[in-house]
Amino acid sequence: MQDGKAALVLFSGGQDSATCLAWALERYRRVETVGFQYGQRHAVEMQCRQHLREELIAGFPGWSARLGDDHVIDLSGLGCLSETAMTRDVAIHLGDKGLPNTFVPGRNLLFFTYAAALGWRRGIRHLIAGVCETDYSGYPDCRDDTVKAMQVALNLGMDERFVLHTPLMWLDKAETWALADRLGGDAMIQLIVEHSHTCYLGERGQRHDWGYGCGHCPACVLRADGWRRYRSDQ
Ligand code: ZN
Repeated sequence: MQDGKAALVLFSGGQDSATCLAWALERYRRVETVGFQYGQRHAVEMQCRQHLREELIAGFPGWSARLGDDHVIDLSGLGCLSETAMTRDVAIHLGDKGLPNTFVPGRNLLFFTYAAALGWRRGIRHLIAGVCETDYSGYPDCRDDTVKAMQVALNLGMDERFVLHTPLMWLDKAETWALADRLGGDAMIQLIVEHSHTCYLGERGQRHDWGYGCGHCPACVLRADGWRRYRSDQ
């Protein structure tokens, strides 16, 4: 049965998807999460998403009753296909057309397709993703037009009415920190700092004020810069 008050969050365990999960828990009666194993180099991401869910349940009584099942979908075939810095042990650099080699072609398109297939089966029509085209790495599958086109394709292809929500699309990283703060206050900020994972290198050795990471890869630089601007606005 379709439930208009249910949502499925594409949840990687990063800062953005953790913020989206809080956003969904504020709005929907039932919120499920989905993660993807796509041959990413670092298993740490998948561990962080479990910790985040556990901490949310422990620390946010108002939200914990709404947090439903977690799903993990195996897309390891994608890692076999792609020669990128996310799926192979190679250095991060800018490639052709100015795209970094952390771009995994087709990744978000597949994520949305699988999420919709799962949502279809679970009676969930609201799909939520933390993609953004403000502070981002130039990935074409994070663009607003790509997501809108996916929504049209999924609805035609499955004869349904999915709504793809992207609450962070027009926020920069400082505004994403501020949104997490508005949603869950200092406890949510602490949870994201301690338990979310952003670093492309899978580094969790060093704790910075903005969380764990190498501090140098493009993902760490964006996260750290957003943190500094968010804190200086307070
Ligand atoms: Zn890093």
